[in-house]
Amino acid sequence: MIIGIDDTDSNDGMCTTYLGALLLDELQAYGTLETLPLLIRLNPTIPYKTRGNAAVALKIRTDCPEKVTAHVVSRIEELAHMECEKTNPGVVFIPENDYDRLKPVLGNFFEKAVKDVIEIQEAKTLISELGIPSKGFKNGRGLIGSLAACGAMLNLEAWDHTFEYLAYRQKESWGTPREVEKESFFEADRKTYPGTWDTVDLKSRQVVCVPHSGDPVLFGIRGENPAIVAEAASLIRAEPIERFAVYRTNQGTDMHLLSVTSFAEIQDMHSYRLEGTVQAIPRTITGGHVIFPIRDEEGNEIDCAAFEPTKNFRLLIRKLRPGDKVELSGSVSSRTLNIEKIEIKTLTPLYKEENPICPNCGKHMKSSGRAQGFRCKKCGTHAVSKITCEIKRDLVAGLYEVPPCARRHLAKPLVREQKSNVNIFPAR
Ligand code: ATP
Repeated sequence: MIIGIDDTDSNDGMCTTYLGALLLDELQAYGTLETLPLLIRLNPTIPYKTRGNAAVALKIRTDCPEKVTAHVVSRIEELAHMECEKTNPGVVFIPENDYDRLKPVLGNFFEKAVKDVIEIQEAKTLISELGIPSKGFKNGRGLIGSLAACGAMLNLEAWDHTFEYLAYRQKESWGTPREVEKESFFEADRKTYPGTWDTVDLKSRQVVCVPHSGDPVLFGIRGENPAIVAEAASLIRAEPIERFAVYRTNQGTDMHLLSVTSFAEIQDMHSYRLEGTVQAIPRTITGGHVIFPIRDEEGNEIDCAAFEPTKNFRLLIRKLRPGDKVELSGSVSSRTLNIEKIEIKTLTPLYKEENPICPNCGKHMKSSGRAQGFRCKKCGTHAVSKITCEIKRDLVAGLYEVPPCARRHLAKPLVREQKSNVNIFPAR
């Protein structure tokens, strides 16, 4: 059977991936796990999310599905932060003999949950129409993520994937500062990058894979395959852990991005890849955020932002000028695209006027007075008007991304990008 779970945590603690890791170990008593568990990231703009809008799915071969169901439900009842208003757990169980029947419909639901906004009622209607065993707690919003995670498990071949090794703290440490040896993360990064990424941010000398909230995660190493994330994790020196799990995930795949033919189609709470022309010099607003408009071929405009947490990425954005052609990816809220990545496709030539150059000595001539042209004092040569010359742009066309400390879970890091004929500049 496939088990999908979502929405068990609160800002004060817990994490649905921890529950997944716990069940992964406990359910071995009832059967065998068939594949790696899934950690699925859904629409990153959903306001109900606690942190990263994650859901998990497990696949187990078992002769006693009732026992598995009962065990999973009792663990959710025990561990989910039900008292938190925003926590509305959901769990879905797909019996093995239903895999073929449910594969297409739940595959579509998964894709929709990553790219679009879904009402709770839509998930509940699907569950009742298709007769899917499930349990929703409180308002049952978690059923959305649970169904989507099952859809991902049923359609493993249909989506790009990466892996994450998640290490969990011992219970008595939850809520206390994490004891980790910072340098060991830099060592792990040196030995395994680019097979792993977003462990550290070299420019700001920050460890970025250790959370700061009260949840049970000690660290998470992201990478291209299970062996490399495990190798990196083995190099970390830190407090003792309770358990770990290696998840297959849609993180780092750009699965959330939609394409549009016209900016008029853009909606808040959706994420896009947009091609357009810069319309104004980027301006810095209160808080250090850098904003500029881009326009499509029909003349529709949208504001794009490199927010303060993107740090040095803003220096690059400030160098854009009207006329530059760009492709941007990111999520839209309040009619503003939060930039995750930029491809600078072409740089518009910029010009400035200068005093003419003496053909004799090569020095700039001086003005001879209002409407009297220009003269070289040394050689006596003369010219009528100023000359126009191109300004060298301090910017190179190519693909750029926000630094690891500002990365969104679903954004595909440039170390994974394989575009030919494009300069790629990973933020390292
Ligand atoms: P957790 O560790 O508990 O999963 P989280 O940060 O991942 O924490 P959730 O607590 O799961 O966030 O909250 C997100 C809620 O939004 C869940 O109830 C999930 O079912 C729901 N949800 C996910 N994707 C969508 C979507 N596309 N449209 C509407 N609701 C969604």
